[in-house]
Amino acid sequence: MEDPTIYRILGPIYISSILPIEQEQDLFESHKITTIISITDSDIPIKYKSSPYKNIQIKLNDTPQDIIFPYIGEINYSIAETIYVNPDMVKPKLSGNAVLIHCQSGISRSVTFVCAYLMNKFKLSLENALHAIRRNYPNRTFEPNEGFLEQLEIYNDTEYTTDLQLLKNNSPRWRGYRMKYLINQLYDEDNINKDSFSEVSKPEINDNLWFGFQCCKCRTLLANNLVYVPHLPPFDKDDKQLFFYKRGLGNQIAQNKCTHIFTEPLNWMKDKILENDDSLQGRLDCYKCNSKVGNYNWKGGRCSCGKWMIPSIYLYKSKVNQIDSNGKLILQNDPRAI
Ligand SMILES: [Zn+2]
Ligand SMILES: [Zn+2]
Repeated sequence: MEDPTIYRILGPIYISSILPIEQEQDLFESHKITTIISITDSDIPIKYKSSPYKNIQIKLNDTPQDIIFPYIGEINYSIAETIYVNPDMVKPKLSGNAVLIHCQSGISRSVTFVCAYLMNKFKLSLENALHAIRRNYPNRTFEPNEGFLEQLEIYNDTEYTTDLQLLKNNSPRWRGYRMKYLINQLYDEDNINKDSFSEVSKPEINDNLWFGFQCCKCRTLLANNLVYVPHLPPFDKDDKQLFFYKRGLGNQIAQNKCTHIFTEPLNWMKDKILENDDSLQGRLDCYKCNSKVGNYNWKGGRCSCGKWMIPSIYLYKSKVNQIDSNGKLILQNDPRAI
């Protein structure tokens, strides 16, 4: 049985499960709710499809693979439009209309989008946005799934970017996030998603932010900053990632240097990665000169610093040179050096 309560979050913003909707409660009468944002596959009663109600339905599942960014803009706008005279302004409408955001249980999806709204509108951190939702209801669970939480952090880090192409270009963290779920797409029902393999190219014009990695032997460009997935070495001395087992050698302490450069799956790796369907791992050779430059393992792998990455697609630092957009080598003492 879903929770029947309609929770007042902040001013005229409410969260609930689907239950009050299924019960066809008179939400305008009880809470002055005029906008109902339904984040669920379930059918919404016809009652809410006409005046005084406006219903927006978003069919999004509640798993970490599901991507929230395409919906944030529309939902933020609808909330603001209901409450404020002008969606960009702070002056509330005299009518005092309210908005209900509900999903199935009122725990993850609805909370996620209310967080996104509060973060954007009031420049709150994710933590403070969650606190604003939870503070009056200490016994009720309001908890976006772990994937939605990470996407909200990315939303914050990128100053409220929702455009997927911009995220891909500007947020290494988003690229890392996508990677985690890529394997599902890649091997899902033999339906290989070709878009999952990124092209690597040099910029047409000088670009100070650009860098690339070229094969040491033949100087072929193998990766660049747009496909590079950074990682932070584990730094806490209690972090188990710092100690790992090396075959035959017992427990090893990780080195404080990274030997791996992790990347997204790249176009030139595609044949190699897809040729052996049975194996989720293998070596990566330079596509020009065939010398070994890295490895991939969809189940994950560890950098020399101890950091565990899933999936693990990497070039060995020792097998590539880092270059800038003029083709000049970036040496180890350069602040741009990876
Ligand atoms: Zn590392
Ligand atoms: Zn090569």
